[in-house]
Amino acid sequence: MSKRDYYEVLGVAKNATENEIKKAYRKLARQYHPDTNPDNKAEAEAKFKEAAEAYEVLSDQEKRAKYDQFGHAGVDPNSFGGGFTGADFGGFGDIFDMFFGGSSGGGGRRKGPQKGNDLRYDLELSFEEAAFGLEKDLEIMRTENCDTCGGSGAAEGYQPKTCPTCGGAGQVQFAQNTPFGRIVQSRTCNACHGEGRIVENPCRTCHGRGKVRKSRTIHVKIPAGIDNDSRMRVSGQGEPGTRGGPPGDLYLFIRVRSHKIFTRRGNDVYCEVKLSFPQAALGDEIEVPTLEGKAELKVPAGTQTGTTFRLRNQGIPDVHGYGRGDQHVRVVVKVPTKLSDRQKELLREFADLSGEKPVEVSGEKGFFEKVKDAFIG
Ligand SMILES: [Zn+2]
Ligand SMILES: [Zn+2]
Repeated sequence: MSKRDYYEVLGVAKNATENEIKKAYRKLARQYHPDTNPDNKAEAEAKFKEAAEAYEVLSDQEKRAKYDQFGHAGVDPNSFGGGFTGADFGGFGDIFDMFFGGSSGGGGRRKGPQKGNDLRYDLELSFEEAAFGLEKDLEIMRTENCDTCGGSGAAEGYQPKTCPTCGGAGQVQFAQNTPFGRIVQSRTCNACHGEGRIVENPCRTCHGRGKVRKSRTIHVKIPAGIDNDSRMRVSGQGEPGTRGGPPGDLYLFIRVRSHKIFTRRGNDVYCEVKLSFPQAALGDEIEVPTLEGKAELKVPAGTQTGTTFRLRNQGIPDVHGYGRGDQHVRVVVKVPTKLSDRQKELLREFADLSGEKPVEVSGEKGFFEKVKDAFIG
């Protein structure tokens, strides 16, 4: 299948301005967004992708110039951020948001200060660690400003100099005579790649990048009561910003391992203990496990299996400091399985006294014979 011309896809002239291209794409994106085309999703999605790919190229001055010169062969499909060749639609959210959500996208973003990248760290905690909190040293790899050159990228004794091509703006303006008149456009400066500065003697440590990868130990405090699947932000511990922008943040993705005895729901913990039949019938004082050792629990006489008792304030501390959860103890009455003759005798006697007549199953007759007897008499 031959690829359609990008200008044709967006329905704009070859000399369309950035604004015209943006408008055309916006219109198509709205028209073909799969959410607005529930009846022919597949076709809409294909059209949407086609438009997005065309926009990706034509909205970028460098890519557009290459496309104008060499056609489709001039623009490497691998440079589209990996989004346009895959069948997955999820990746289009960002592009879409950029236009309709009104986020910070747009032409001038290369120049100003930029916040550093956020980092993710997956942290696994034991049940108790999550319940009571802990302090921990985490080892993370992150990009940092190079110590040797202080982030400038220039070798010792040298300074990066202002780009002579763009005068430090990172962008250059150029005028074009078109059938519609003279149009002034701006594009990213080729000499400095939009940085506005040029490093002539690069620093040996970072090879002029101004940044290096480093392993860092970060001390974090995990608050008591943190739950599975929560996210914690460690402010300012991400990667450094550029051009004076603030650093990114470090996000801890918390996973809490399950416990042998306890399960957790909110700030409450649940466990199960077994009671013998006499304990349940006569009542008893038993020991139950809690997060902080053993506790006494009074089981009243006549407790049924499945009854739940509550131990107030024996649960998990609230992560925001609002008190503490409870512990719920569910009792299960065990039916004895290995009985001695004496025990059997006593149970039969017990049944007798209760007015019950247990069927003798231990005898010589099997179940079916008994059923037969019952019918034949
Ligand atoms: Zn420049
Ligand atoms: Zn350096």
